[in-house]
Amino acid sequence: MKRLDIVITFLLSLLLTIGVGYNGNQILVVTSCLFLALILLSSKRWLKWGLIFPIGLIATLYFQSGYIYGHPNIGIIASLLETNKRESIEFLLAIPATVWLLNAILLVAFSYYLVRIKFVFQWHKSAILLGIGCFYFSSLSVFINHIYISSVHYIAQMKAIQKSIHQRADWTILSAKPKYKNYVLIVGESMRKDYMSAYGYPINTTPFLAQTPAILVNGYLSAASHTAVSLPRTLAISHGLDLHPVNNIITLANAAKMKTIWLSNQGFIGKYDTAVSAIAVHATEKQFLKKGNFLTNNTSDYALLPLFKQALAQPYKGSKLIVVHIMGSHENFCDRIKKDIYGFKDKDLSCYLSTYNQTDSIIKTIVNDLKATQESYSLFYFSDHGLNNVSTVKGQTQLVHGDLYKQNYEVPLIEIASDIKQHIKVNKKISAFDFMSIFSHWIGVKTAQLPAFSIYQAPQEKSIQVLSGNQMVPFSRLKNDPDEIIKRH
Ligand SMILES: [Zn+2]
Repeated sequence: MKRLDIVITFLLSLLLTIGVGYNGNQILVVTSCLFLALILLSSKRWLKWGLIFPIGLIATLYFQSGYIYGHPNIGIIASLLETNKRESIEFLLAIPATVWLLNAILLVAFSYYLVRIKFVFQWHKSAILLGIGCFYFSSLSVFINHIYISSVHYIAQMKAIQKSIHQRADWTILSAKPKYKNYVLIVGESMRKDYMSAYGYPINTTPFLAQTPAILVNGYLSAASHTAVSLPRTLAISHGLDLHPVNNIITLANAAKMKTIWLSNQGFIGKYDTAVSAIAVHATEKQFLKKGNFLTNNTSDYALLPLFKQALAQPYKGSKLIVVHIMGSHENFCDRIKKDIYGFKDKDLSCYLSTYNQTDSIIKTIVNDLKATQESYSLFYFSDHGLNNVSTVKGQTQLVHGDLYKQNYEVPLIEIASDIKQHIKVNKKISAFDFMSIFSHWIGVKTAQLPAFSIYQAPQEKSIQVLSGNQMVPFSRLKNDPDEIIKRH
């Protein structure tokens, strides 16, 4: 039976390696190291149960996340910890059957290994030393290291954010002359630039944005690849891993005597997006449609529209900033929309593209409301990050969060304003880390802390960096994901 034991141990090593998110070019090395370690350490019960069991169990539980999203990073850690019950159930339902099956096989192989497999070596002390050495270079050890680094970053981020809730911003305002009466910032979710007809996609997914007078930045890059990591670095001062959450768009607008209103269809503190709520908390008025974590609480973005109308109608003699944070194109796509308007064979892709039309129509309604007031207005729309297609692993289009592809960062940045009369595309690479400066210029505020510049004045950086995994990497070094596969009925 020793041959069977070897086969099972190898299968276990391979599944554990895939499950902790490694399928790159080093997969053979880290798998082989794990395989040797599992064989060499199998003779000692205390090593099996004291070392391999706890780490293997975490890896087994992580399998589905790892298979779909890759190895642990600050974004995944934040999403796992801040996701509410509804989100977790949506996530589990979206997992393909093959992944469940592989996870089940892993569980069986792991149990079999723990209970039945035992290789005894005569030179057992050297075997154990060699086994521990191999374990150190194995995929499980890399996995633990990634969890450790990500958690350290996550804890630092959470501490900074929690502290900021009770802090006062220290903006030194040099001048404040808002140009428009009404400012609207729509924060989108998981929308890639290249699937928008406004940016040239052949299917008309964004008919309004493709036509309306607007400035469309072609080359805007999100700061990071997950909401909880990206938005605190876009809507507040940040240069990379660092965070200054109290110096954010809301405290800046408040300092400029604007009325600030935050409307959100994403969750509040402790639930879904703590990092973003900590910015929202500074607004004069805030309304969150998702307060609890109940399964029934799947509110449509359309429910924000009446709240927006009310916010707009409130009398205020200065300028107003209304932030509208939508669920947009968040997974699971079919839950976001009222109707799948494409009806492709691939339901998921069909729903994903339909969410684009929904967001497009929401922006259109908001612009019409703004026009109806006959007051001057300006609106910015961007998406917090993109998604990447993992069709090469899955055999069909599947768009997921990730941080290894250009498409995880290539998002729209669009301005529509009462004095913009043409449809203009600006081909320029602009980093979301510069959004605070663009925002400051937009609302006509000069501060001592932050340079203010327009989209046109934004510095032309040679190598824009994005936060990928746990570190800043040059955007140009990321790869492109495969094209989507559209099968019509
Ligand atoms: Zn997001």
